[in-house]
Parts: sequence; C-alpha cells; structure tokens
Amino acid sequence: MNRVKLMALTAIVLLFSASSFYGYYRDLGVVRYVSGTTKAINWASSELEMEVLKFDRALNALAANIVTSEAVQLRYEILLSRLNTLLHGEANRPTREQPGVEATLQQLYQQLLALEDVIYQLKPADITATKALHPTVEAMHQQVRTINVDSFSGDNVWQQLDVLQDIRLRSSLYLAGLLLSGALMLLLLIRENRRNRHLAYHDGLTGLPNRVYFYQLIKQALQEAERLRQPLAIHMVDLDSFKTINDSLGHEVGDRLLQIIASRLKQAAGRQAHVARLAGDEFVIIQRPAGQHEACALAKQLSQAISQEVWLSSGCIVPQACVGTSLYPSQASSSTLLLRYADMALYHAKQSANQQLQLYQEGMNEQRLRRQQLSLALQQALEHDELQLYYQPIFNLSSQNIESFEALLRWHSAEHGWVAPPEIISIAEQYGLAAQLNEWVLSQACQQVQHWHHQGHSSLKININISPNIFMAGKLAATLKQVLLKTEVNAAALVLEITEDTSVWDTAASVDTLTELRALGIEIALDDFGTGYSSFSHLRSLPFNKLKLDKSFVADMVSDPRALSLVKTMLALANSLEMTVTAEGIELPEQCRLLAGLGCTLGQGYLLAKPMPAAQVEKRLVINKSGASSLAPEV
Ligand code: C2E
Ligand code: MG
Ligand code: MG
Repeated sequence: MNRVKLMALTAIVLLFSASSFYGYYRDLGVVRYVSGTTKAINWASSELEMEVLKFDRALNALAANIVTSEAVQLRYEILLSRLNTLLHGEANRPTREQPGVEATLQQLYQQLLALEDVIYQLKPADITATKALHPTVEAMHQQVRTINVDSFSGDNVWQQLDVLQDIRLRSSLYLAGLLLSGALMLLLLIRENRRNRHLAYHDGLTGLPNRVYFYQLIKQALQEAERLRQPLAIHMVDLDSFKTINDSLGHEVGDRLLQIIASRLKQAAGRQAHVARLAGDEFVIIQRPAGQHEACALAKQLSQAISQEVWLSSGCIVPQACVGTSLYPSQASSSTLLLRYADMALYHAKQSANQQLQLYQEGMNEQRLRRQQLSLALQQALEHDELQLYYQPIFNLSSQNIESFEALLRWHSAEHGWVAPPEIISIAEQYGLAAQLNEWVLSQACQQVQHWHHQGHSSLKININISPNIFMAGKLAATLKQVLLKTEVNAAALVLEITEDTSVWDTAASVDTLTELRALGIEIALDDFGTGYSSFSHLRSLPFNKLKLDKSFVADMVSDPRALSLVKTMLALANSLEMTVTAEGIELPEQCRLLAGLGCTLGQGYLLAKPMPAAQVEKRLVINKSGASSLAPEV
C-alpha cells in the first residue's frame, strides 16, 4: 500500500474514532442528565406525598389528642414550604416541567393556603373539626399520588426510556465502529509489518533475498547439511563488464539486465537452491545437497542460462558471467570460509582469459595477493615509463612486403619478471589503470609509426589492440583524436584491433563509435575472429574492414580437414563482406603456403617474424626494390 493510501485510511480511522468518542461523551451527558432528573423528580414527588401523609397523620393524632396543635401547625408549615420549593426551586424544575404538574401544585398550594386559619384554630381532641378537613386532605393526597405515580410510569418516563434506548443503540454502534476501526488498523499494521519485513530481507530490484537474508539462509542450510550429513555448494556469480554496460547504456538498462539475470539464475537453480543478490552484479547461490559433480553441473547451467541473448530497446546483449564455487564440508565448514573460497574462485575465473567457471583450489589466495602487488608495480611502471611495446610484422602473403606492425605490450617487472599482456590488461582494468595504459600504448605506437614514416617507410601501418572495456567506455574516439593531433600521424596508418567480445554489443553506441573512428580514416580489425560470439548480423552492421583469423584455426588447418574448411568458409565470408583477412599465428611453412593459396591477404606469426623491440625493428627494416618495407634477415 502506498503512503498516501495509508495516510488517508489512518485519517479516516482517526476521524471516526474521534467522532465516536465525542458522540459517546455527549450521550453519557444525556444519560447523566436523564437519570439525574428522573431521580430528582421521583424523590421530590415521593417527598411531597410523604409530607401530605405526615400532615394527615398529624391531624388524626391531634383528633386523638396524642399530639399538640403546634405539631399539626409544624406539619402544615413543612408541607406548605415543600410545595413552595417545588413551585419555585431551581432544582425542582424537572418536576414542575412534567405535563400538568405545575398547575396541580399551584392549585394544591392555594388550597393549602386557604386552610391556614382553620389549621391554626384546631384544638386537641376536636374530632369534628379535624374530620371536616379530612376530604380536602384526602383529595390533596390523591392529586399528589397521581404526580408521584406519573413520575415513575407516566408518558415522560416512557419518553426518557426511549431516549435511553436510543443512546444504548448508538453506543453499540459506536462500539462496533470503534472495534471495526481497531481491527482495520491492526490489519494495516500487520500488512505494513509484513511488507517492511519483506523489504528488509529482499532486494528491491530483483526480489531476491538480500545480503542480510542470505546470511540467515546459509546458516540454516549449513545447520541442516550438518544434521543430515549432506554436502553443499556455494556459487558466487559476477557479470562481466557490468560497470561498462551501466556506464555506456545507462542504469535503466543495467537494472533491467539484473532483473533478467536474477530470474534466469532462479530458474536455472531450481527448487534445490537459494539465489540471493549480495550487491551490484554479484549473486550467490546455495545448492543443497551438492557434491563436486552436482556443483560443477549447476555452475555450468548457471553460466549457460546467463549467456542467452537479452533483447533490449537499445540492441542485443549476450551477457557473460563468471562463477566461483566452494564446497562444504570438503573445502570449508563455516559460512565465512565457504564464501571467501567461492569469492577467490570467482576472482580466479574473472582473471582467466578463457575460464568462466572455477572450483576453489588451494593456493588461490596467493594468486590474489600477487595481482594486488602487480597492480602497484604496474602503476609505478606506468609512472616511470617502464613498459615497452614490441612490434610484430604483418606481411602481405603474396608480395612478402610488410604491411603493418602489431604493437604488443611487454612488461618486465623487477619484482615479478615478465608479465603476460592479457594479465597486464586485466590488472589494469581491475585496478582502474586501463585508460592510462591505453593512452600510453596509443601514443607510444603512434610515435613509433611516425618515426618509421620519417625514416622513409611511409606506407607502414600500426595495429593497436584495444580492450573491449576501453572501447565500451566511449571515450576512445576523443582520446585518439588527441593522440593523432599530438603525434601528427596520418589516421589512415592506424588499425585498431578489437577482440570479438566487443561485437557482442550490437548497440547504436557501438556502431556510432566505430563509424566515428572509420570516418577519421582509421581501420578497424575484428581480432581473434572465430573464438568468441560471432553473429553474421554483427559483421554486417558493424563497420569492421579487417578480420584477424584466430591462431587456433591456423594451428589446426594442416592436420584437421574441418578446421581447414572452416578457414575456407571464413575467408569466403570475409571476401563477400569486402574485409581483408589477416591470419594469426603462422608457425609452419605449410600453413603459410595453404593460406596464401586460399587467398588470405595478410599473415603474421613466429614463422615470419616474432614480436621484437622497436630498436631491433629499426635495425632490420629495409626498403626493398619495389619501394615497400621488408625485414632484412637476422644476422
Ligand atoms: P593478439 O592481439 O591476438 O596478439 C597476438 C598474440 O599472438 C601475441 O601475443 C603474439 O605474441 C602472439 N603470436 C604471434 N605470432 C604467434 C605465433 O606464431 N604463435 C603463437 N603461439 N603466438 C603468436 P601476446 O603479445 O602475448 O599478446 C596476447 C594478447 O594480449 C594479444 O592478443 C592482445 O589481445 C593482448 N594485448 C597485447 N598487447 C596489448 C595492448 O597493448 N593492449 C591491449 N588491449 N591488449 C594487448
Ligand atoms: Mg591483436
Ligand atoms: Mg589475435
């Protein structure tokens, strides 16, 4: 229920309660008044009758000579004063106001006044005079009796009873209303309480149990697993490049994606498992019962479920995620350790280039520490210009001339030795150094190609690798423009290599960035083609003009006819899309011959030349007879 509704309902209930209380107190006043007046009337009329009777008794006693004349006179005076009070006293107004009572009282008063002389002349034992008074007194008594009886059972009494009955009915209604409002409030409170409890224990976006609830769930699961002596698995799931998705496509798309992932995970996990969202794009699954085999199977299912296409208004995404798994009781028995191990395994999977699922193994923590140390060392290396670029020539397979050099990152850390480029890139991305590193590579490579151009190798190009995250961050074109301006390199000498992962993004933003780069005159190559997620529609809609055939195809094409036919198909496809193909990883003369025969334009590989430092390139780079650049043999 929303706030407004709740407030409106509370206001209604309060209003009703207030009016009920008001009505109740008003009725209480009426009841008090009615019962007060009834009492007053009853008392006054009874007293009057008593006085008349006492007066009558005094007359009889005087006749029998039992009392003196003064006693009769006293009773007379008392009766007269009683009547006077009834006629004029404020407290006796209710008695007077009874129908016909005031007139009767007036009449009685006058009658009594008229008797004054007679009463004052009465002597003891004067039976005759006393008897003469008797009919008058008796008539008076009858009138007073009528007033007395009417005050108990006359019309007025019935009216008052009706009023009381009315009040009783109203009071019952008020009570029922109050009870109803109370019940309603209670119901609302219970509902709100339930809602608050749900909110406190669930994630608002996905509806999954949140971190707080998750800790309860894992505690329960472990207790039960211990009691039943069953194994259990914890899976930590983390989406790849979620931050990039959020930054480039907006938080709405990010939120929608998280909701989809949450429901996919829930479905894949089934009833045997609890899925919770710990934070951001981090999910955790408790699987029970689960030994290593079941755990690995579920981890695979989870990853497969996630990596289905997601169609959004802005395009299609194929989300990828890493899963880290730990096992109870074989690896750890406390929730803290299980989570830490699953987290380490996840971390390991995220660092690995080709492994999305990882079961915890001993020694993983050391790797994590190493990466932390590496990140610090990388930062220093960037600051002190200790990184290097190696250059591997890319040859035209028919003319043997060098078309371009691929710039490949090299880092020899004094503390850690040689660090492989993919590891450098992933550390840079994890520790926020990616943009700085990318800028360094771009300007270093551009300076180098400019230098070669100045040396006379004016047709040489430079291939520069761009990591998917840098591409998605959306600042690439601006950075490139700056670097080109600074180094004065012709944009046409640049070939950007973007790994196939990037093409997963069939979004308008990707097309725009690539189109902007192409408009500058820069060439774009799809790197490692054939290894990732390829879609013909991506090839058609994204403005790549080069393909780099992954070295795994080249390696297998000599021995595996299927790999060979795949290479042929890919060459034909590239040809039909007017894309130039570079074959990577040529290590054997046979591969080179085959590729040239199949019409593959460009090639690179250890057979032709290994990546080398700039100084070595300079030593070997010559201009051949045709005016193109080539490498002189090593001496
Ligand atoms: P890549 O772009 O596919 O680069 C080709 C890789 O294959 C290079 O590995 C190269 O040394 C290696 N290679 C070349 N010829 C052969 C061969 O005949 N056989 C074999 N087995 N390998 C060959 P490297 O230098 O270790 O780089 C690995 C990956 O790291 C690159 O793959 C690229 O994706 C990434 N990388 C390298 N430098 C950079 C960089 O400056 N920025 C970014 N973002 N990524 C980079
Ligand atoms: Mg490359
Ligand atoms: Mg490659």
